This record gives sequence, structure tokens and C-alpha cells, in this order.
Amino acid sequence: MDRTDRFDIIVVGGGGAGIAAAIGAGRGGARVLICEKMQKLGKKVRISGNGRCNIYNDIIDESGYNVESRELVRSMLSKFGKTEIVRFFRDLGLRVYSDDEGRVFPITNQSASVLDVLELELGRVGAHVYFECAITSLERNESGFRLKHKDGALYAKCVILCAGGKSYPISGTDGSAYALATAFGHTLVEPVPSTVALLSDDPWCKPLSGQKIQAGVSFSINGEPGPRTEGDFLFTDYGVSGLTVLDSSEEISIALGRGLSTDTALVVDLVPFMHEDELRKELQQRLRRKFPSDKLLAGLLPPKFAGVLAPVLETRNPHTIVDAVKRKTFRITGTRGWNDAEFTAGGVDHREVDGRTLESKKCPGLYLAGEILDVNGKRGGFNLAWAWSSGYVSGQHAAESLAAPRH
Ligand SMILES: Cc1cc2nc3c(=O)[nH]c(=O)nc-3n(C[C@H](O)[C@H](O)[C@H](O)COP(=O)(O)OP(=O)(O)OC[C@H]3O[C@@H](n4cnc5c(N)ncnc54)[C@H](O)[C@@H]3O)c2cc1C
Repeated sequence: MDRTDRFDIIVVGGGGAGIAAAIGAGRGGARVLICEKMQKLGKKVRISGNGRCNIYNDIIDESGYNVESRELVRSMLSKFGKTEIVRFFRDLGLRVYSDDEGRVFPITNQSASVLDVLELELGRVGAHVYFECAITSLERNESGFRLKHKDGALYAKCVILCAGGKSYPISGTDGSAYALATAFGHTLVEPVPSTVALLSDDPWCKPLSGQKIQAGVSFSINGEPGPRTEGDFLFTDYGVSGLTVLDSSEEISIALGRGLSTDTALVVDLVPFMHEDELRKELQQRLRRKFPSDKLLAGLLPPKFAGVLAPVLETRNPHTIVDAVKRKTFRITGTRGWNDAEFTAGGVDHREVDGRTLESKKCPGLYLAGEILDVNGKRGGFNLAWAWSSGYVSGQHAAESLAAPRH
């Protein structure tokens, strides 16, 4: 390929944030290059939402993100929030719909459609893309940046680091790009896997492996209970999974991964559709009707549960049974790790970027956007919304800074 090596702006990483950054910068008149280490753009966009790509949420605001980052998120969303994201994709020709949880998907239900329109726009703004171009080091001098890759070097006046976090290394993100930022004195909030299945040595897990129920789940750290979520709860050979577990995983992963606590558990209500009193009365009635012990929960829990609950059911004590099924505790020993995690909690400390522009406070001309920063949203389109918003704003500002030279 005929490659030139000098650009106004080089975007490192062609995921959602990098593509949005390049479009923002290209629309601002800058000559832009995306360096992407994989053979395609947006591998994570492609797998997002099970290939349907949940591109944003109808109800995006900073409350959907980790507490520490909310001020920065509010600032970014005030410049490129829901209204702007909607207009951005509509203008690119993408038709979307929302489901009843406010999650927005392309009308085709295929993430490839999202990339289709984004790639067209990259072409329209004249952005270049170099594939299989992993940036291995970044240096600054008076005239700008020198970016090394395996075949040589590239030069740019500004660099936007959009190299993602550590989750799903198969999509190009193994955390090695953090070093590009730490080389300039940036610090890392210890990255840990988030939205991830959890490991448990509870004796229920193996015999119930494959059983999925609706449950109410709260995490517990040092005995302190967290908020409750309701929905899928799945038993597996290694522990537990399902949407409730993914949604409760971040705090546990942070506690374990940052050495804050090893006393981590999930407290699970296996019968969330009945209040305790209602369940107790139902059991008392079943006991009066002489139900056999292994059928006391028939119709309320799948038959397999009678096995793991046998010692409790054999007590024929409704209080003991209610306690066992409304507050079952699973000790959590770890997470399934980076290969399974949807997001990264942690990353480059967001306090080290300008809250208005995302320019590094450590190195002028360097910008950071997307999952590389320690900003993480909940499931439901919040992480891609952050990628579009932070990417676009950083690209726009980088281009503006070149149009209006610094004093
Ligand atoms: C299975 C799964 C499902 C998901 N579903 C959703 C969802 O439905 N909705 C939602 O909002 N979020 C979802 N997410 C999260 C969301 O996809 C990410 O938060 C978002 O894509 C991050 O965008 P990014 O551009 O910051 O990083 P990434 O998309 O990770 O992009 C970073 C890019 O940088 C490249 N790169 C890394 N290092 C270098 C280097 N040194 N040189 C050059 N290139 C480099 C990588 O190859 C990669 O392409 C999901 C994630 C996963 C894993």
C-alpha cells in the first residue's frame, strides 16, 4: 500500500471512539489517519449487543456511569449527548429503533450496518486508515508526535489515543496500549474485568449447571449489601452468570482485583416473585397438605433444585426453607477474566484529561477517548455512547486546536 507518514491528527485505534474521533477531526478540516492494529475497523462494535449493536440508550445521562467519572461524562454529553448522537447516525443514513428498555439498535439488527455508514463517512471526510498498524511507542517533540510501528514511523501534530481497554483481547484490546499513555506520566486506575461471569465454589453450582432462573440478586462486600437487580441468573460449572450476575460483577471485580476485599458474595433471592410472608404461607399450606419434602417447592423452582435443597426441605420448617431460598449466598472467588468481560473498569485516570476537550494534562496535543479512560457505563448502550461522544468531541477539539494555533 502506498503510505504517507505525515498527518495533522493520528488516531490510535479504530474502534467506536477512534472512528468517531476521525470523523469529528475530518469534519473540522484536519488530515486524519486511523492506525488500527487489526485487519478491520470496529471489531468490538461488530460483536456488541450480540451482533445487533446496541449503539446508545434513549435515557443516557451521567448517572449510568461509574461515580468518579460522572462530571467528565456530563461535560462530554453536554457537547455530544443523546440529541447529537441521534442526529449523527440519522445524518449518516442509519435507521434505528428502541426496545422497551430504551436500548437503541440499527433497524437491520446488524452491527455491520453501523460500520457501513461510519466507514462511508470516514471516506467522505477523507480520513485514511492503516490496518495491521499497531503503534508501539509514541514520542513528542517541538513539531508534534512520532509514532512507531513495526515497519517504521508516522508523524502527526496531534494524537488521539482511542486504543480501548483490556476486555475481549480477541478484538484487539489487550491493555498493551496503556503504556502509550503512561509513557507521558499518565497513571492507571487498576483495570479490572467488568460485566463478567463470576467464579464460585458453592456446592450448588455444578449440579445445577445449565439451570437458568429469574432471581433477585445483590452483591455483598464485607457483608455490606449492594443494590438489587432482577432477571436471569444462570448456574454454570465454574460458578454463576446471567444478566443479574453481569450487572453485579463490577463492584465484586473491583474489590477482588484491586485487593480491597476477599469477602465477596452474591445474595440471591431464588423466588423473587413472592414476598417472604406469601412464600411462608404457601409452604405452611403445602405442609398441611402433606406434600413430600422434595416437592415442597414444586412449581416455584425447577425440579433439580430439590436435590441441592434436600437437607433444608427435609427440616419441613417453613422459616428455614424461606430463609434458604430468599437469601441464598454464593461466595465469589474471582471473575471469568478478560476473555469474557464486556467492559473494563479502570484505565487511564480521567482526572488527567481536560474535562472540556479530553486533551491530556500531561502532554499537550495528546487526547484520550473511549474505553482507554477509567469511564465505564452500565449495560444497555452506555459504553458505546461514551465511545461516540468522547471520540467525536476529542476529534473536534484536536482539529480546532490546529486551526487556531496555541499561544
Ligand atoms: C461482547 C461485548 C458486547 C458489548 N456490547 C455492547 C453493547 O451492546 N452496547 C454498548 O454500549 N457497549 C457494548 N460493549 C462495549 C463496547 O463495545 C465498548 O465499550 C466500546 O466499543 C469501546 O470503544 P473504544 O473505541 O473505546 O475501544 P475498542 O472498541 O476496544 O477499540 C480500540 C481499538 O484500538 C485498537 N488498538 C489497540 N491497541 C492499538 C495499538 N497499539 N495500535 C493500533 N491500534 C490499537 C484495537 O484493535 C481496537 O480496534 C460490548 C463489549 C463486548 C466485548
